[in-house]
Amino acid sequence: MEPTASNNIDNLVDWIFIGERLSFKVASVKTDPTRWNKDWEKALRGLKAQDVFEFFRTCNQYWSTRKTPNSESVYRHQHLRDLVETRLLERQNFAGSVWTALLAGGKFGMSWLSMKEKERRKHLLKGITEACALGTAHQNMRALCPDVTMDAMVKEQGKAFIVFVEAFVKGLDGVAAGSVLLLSSEWWDRALDGLHRKTDVDGDVFYALTRHRNEFITDFVVSTGMSILEDLTMAGPGMKEILNIIRGDPQYASSWIDTVASLPAKPTIRCENCTKSTAEIGGSLKFMLCGACKSKLGFSVHYCSKACQKEDWPNHRQHCGKEKISKQLSGTANDPHWWFPDRPGYMEDLAAQNNGGVSLLQIGFGKADPSRPYSAALQRQISLLRHDEVADYFLFDAADRPIRVEVQGIGRKATFRMMRSDALAPNDEQGAQAIGEYLVKTMSHHPGLTREMIFAQLGKEYGEDLIPKIMEVETISAANNPGGLSFLEHFGPSLEPLLGTMMLDHQ
Ligand SMILES: [Zn+2]
Ligand SMILES: [Zn+2]
Repeated sequence: MEPTASNNIDNLVDWIFIGERLSFKVASVKTDPTRWNKDWEKALRGLKAQDVFEFFRTCNQYWSTRKTPNSESVYRHQHLRDLVETRLLERQNFAGSVWTALLAGGKFGMSWLSMKEKERRKHLLKGITEACALGTAHQNMRALCPDVTMDAMVKEQGKAFIVFVEAFVKGLDGVAAGSVLLLSSEWWDRALDGLHRKTDVDGDVFYALTRHRNEFITDFVVSTGMSILEDLTMAGPGMKEILNIIRGDPQYASSWIDTVASLPAKPTIRCENCTKSTAEIGGSLKFMLCGACKSKLGFSVHYCSKACQKEDWPNHRQHCGKEKISKQLSGTANDPHWWFPDRPGYMEDLAAQNNGGVSLLQIGFGKADPSRPYSAALQRQISLLRHDEVADYFLFDAADRPIRVEVQGIGRKATFRMMRSDALAPNDEQGAQAIGEYLVKTMSHHPGLTREMIFAQLGKEYGEDLIPKIMEVETISAANNPGGLSFLEHFGPSLEPLLGTMMLDHQ
């Protein structure tokens, strides 16, 4: 489409649409934003940086004939360059302050990962459409950023967006004051490679477009963040669970986000015989599946080669096609703890369950630190727990007989185990305080036990200092939690929706 003189320069971007030039169609963002986004993302997969560059260069030429007497690039002029640079710098400074606030205390990551995918998509779409509305070339800006798509950002249960934002914020921190951040893109960095003859004008246009590209990314990051912040502030329906957690205790919220964020999104594939993963073998090897297990049981047993399958056959034939039995190699889908591959030694000892499910109840033994002196009482506790994976704790009656404690409710049980794991970490007090408060609250009236006995035991295990600290936690809970619930009773259930998203989605 050739520009005509009758067009108003200010409407440039409204009448030239890159889609018409490169023959792709997108629905109207006003009538169907979801469809509009889908159409765009489809188009973005096929866009060549050279074609995008040439489209914008044509726009620039048109603009030049109107704005400068010698029809040279508008970006020749220092003041225009300054304008582009200043705007980007302002947006990036704003992005920095918004995201510093959002990332503080783990609030953002926590909310993002616990949201339903539909919610995440809602915020991302808002971020994308607003970045288009704000951008110098409106929706054409998207053509400069094939890396910013909803599909890319929702990957790995939403972790992809967090990674993207964290890299962006880290990038901002790394640039000198007064300089703009220009994210590198292999795709865009080679936009000039296909041109027959590079001119100064091309260099100027590339300079400006690189900034426009980063302007879109910045606006997207800001607008998505603002959308989430708004929902958090307005307590939108998708934020209920998260708000409970944040209100409950921001410190625990941030330790949870570390846990959630460190979970791998996908199981590793390993050869059932030689146990090597694709990465360990190298190259782009395609694993073979045992056909009988797959077709009869829907169960995946992988082999790297025919030789490995043959070698493993005497072993595998006993269960092949009959039972879902494999070696449950670490990190693979058949490993009940695949999402927790760097699990501490305690967990290695747990009897592996072979129901194909991932049991959250098995997390949280924590790593005993060899440099930390454990009291004899605590060593005994650890030893009992290691031999009874279902028990959450052991209390002792007057005759020193163990009384098993099993915490009820998945959220409370998971929290208890996380806290118990913290309690075994060096220099931790919060974990022991939380489980202590819970045990005193819920077990004091158990036959054979009293409040004093439980305090005495915890004192022996973790040190006498812990007792006044637990009492402090009791005071805080009594003042803040409805019905005088202990921290764990109050906090645990609010995690349940989150645990559902974390664990069950992996199945
Ligand atoms: Zn192999
Ligand atoms: Zn088989």
